[in-house]
Amino acid sequence: MADGFDARPNLIGMDRDDIAAALLDAGEDASKVRMRANQLFHWIYYRGARDFSEMTSISKAWRADLHERFRIGRPEVSSYQQSEDGTRKWLMRFADGHEAETVHIPEADRGALCVSSQVGCTLTCSFCHTGTQKLVRNLTVGEIVAQMLVARDTIGEWPSPRGERMISNIVMMGMGEPLLNYENVAKALKIVMDGEGISLSKRRITLSTSGVVPLIERCGRELEVNLAISLHAVNDELRDVLVPINRKHPIRELLDACRTYPAANNARRITWEYVMLDGINDSPAEARELVRLIKGIPSKVNLIPFNPWPGAPYACSKPEAIEKFAKIVNDAGYSSPVRTPRGRDIMAACGQLKSASERGRREKTGAAEIVQA
Ligand code: SAH
Ligand code: SF4
Repeated sequence: MADGFDARPNLIGMDRDDIAAALLDAGEDASKVRMRANQLFHWIYYRGARDFSEMTSISKAWRADLHERFRIGRPEVSSYQQSEDGTRKWLMRFADGHEAETVHIPEADRGALCVSSQVGCTLTCSFCHTGTQKLVRNLTVGEIVAQMLVARDTIGEWPSPRGERMISNIVMMGMGEPLLNYENVAKALKIVMDGEGISLSKRRITLSTSGVVPLIERCGRELEVNLAISLHAVNDELRDVLVPINRKHPIRELLDACRTYPAANNARRITWEYVMLDGINDSPAEARELVRLIKGIPSKVNLIPFNPWPGAPYACSKPEAIEKFAKIVNDAGYSSPVRTPRGRDIMAACGQLKSASERGRREKTGAAEIVQA
C-alpha cells in the first residue's frame, strides 16, 4: 500500500509498546493488548505483511477491524535502479512528497543496506553531494524502518531468514547525519534489532557520523552498534573546511569520544573513513599523522576513493597516492582496505546520494530550495 494521505495511523515505525497503546486507544480489551501487539509485530516485521488480509493467524473480523483503524503504509518507490555490478538503489517518496535514497551493495553471500536518516543533510561537507541539497528534514522512525522493509520486499527476504541473508548488514551511511536525528534513528534501530522481527544483530549495524561528539557516548551505551567516523583530515585547519562540524567539535574532542566509545574493543573496532582527495589530504605525511592520531584506539581505516558528482570541487587521488597512503597505514598494523566504488553508474556510491526530484527541480529553476532544518 503506498503511503499517500491517509488519516489511519501507520503501524510501520511502531514498536510493541506503541502498538499496544494504539490498540488500547482503539478500544481493544486491556487483557489482550499485549498478546495482540506481539502478533501484529510479528506479522509486520518478521513476515513482512503488507496488508491485514495476509495475517492468517488473526480472525477475519479482527482483520477487518484493524483495516478500518490502521494501515501498514510503505513509502512509494519513485525510482528503482540496478547497477551493472548488482548494486540497487531505491528512491523512496514519503507522504509529504519528500524523498530519500536507500542503496543495497551485494557481496557473494551477503550484502549491506545503506540507509538514510534524513532528507538531505544540514551539514555541508564540501566533498559530499548530499550536503549540497538544501531541502532538509529528519526522517521519522517509520520512514527509516520502511527502507529496510521495502528492500526486503524487492529482494524477497521474508520471513526474516535464519541463516544467510542478502541484506545481512545495515550501514547508516545514506543521506543525512544520523546523530542529528538520534531519537528516531535509535528507535528505528531497536525495532530492526528485535529478535522476533527483522532480527538484525547490533554487530551487523554500523552508524557513521561526521562527528556529532555529544551523542557518541549515548549511541554506544544505548545501541551498542559499530561506529564509523568520517575523519577525512588529520588537522583542524583542513577538517574545518572538509567537515565543517569540526569547527564545533574539533579532532581532539572527537578522538576522546572514540577512545571511550562503550561498544569498541578489539573485536569491534572503530572504522575511520577517509575520502581520498587529490592533492588535498592524501600525502604520506598525512598518513603518518593519521596513524599517530588513532594510536591506542581499536581501529580500522576505510580509504574511500572520492566519488565525483557534477560540479564537485575535488578530484579523486591518483592510484599511486592511495596505494602509498594505504601502505603506511597497513604497515602501522591497521587494516586499511580501499573501498571499491560500487554503483557509480547509477549515482549510488558513497556521498553521491541526493534525491532525483531535488536534482530535477534545481536543474529547472537553477535556484536553491528553502532550508527547513
Ligand atoms: N553523515 C554521515 C553518514 C552519511 S555519509 C557521515 O558523514 O558520516 C557516508 C560516508 O560517505 C561518509 O564517510 C562521507 O564522508 C562519505 N562521502 C561523502 N561524500 C563522498 C564522496 N563524494 N566520495 C566518497 N565518499 C563520500
Ligand atoms: Fe552530511 Fe555526511 Fe554528507 Fe557531511 S558527509 S554533508 S555529514 S551526509
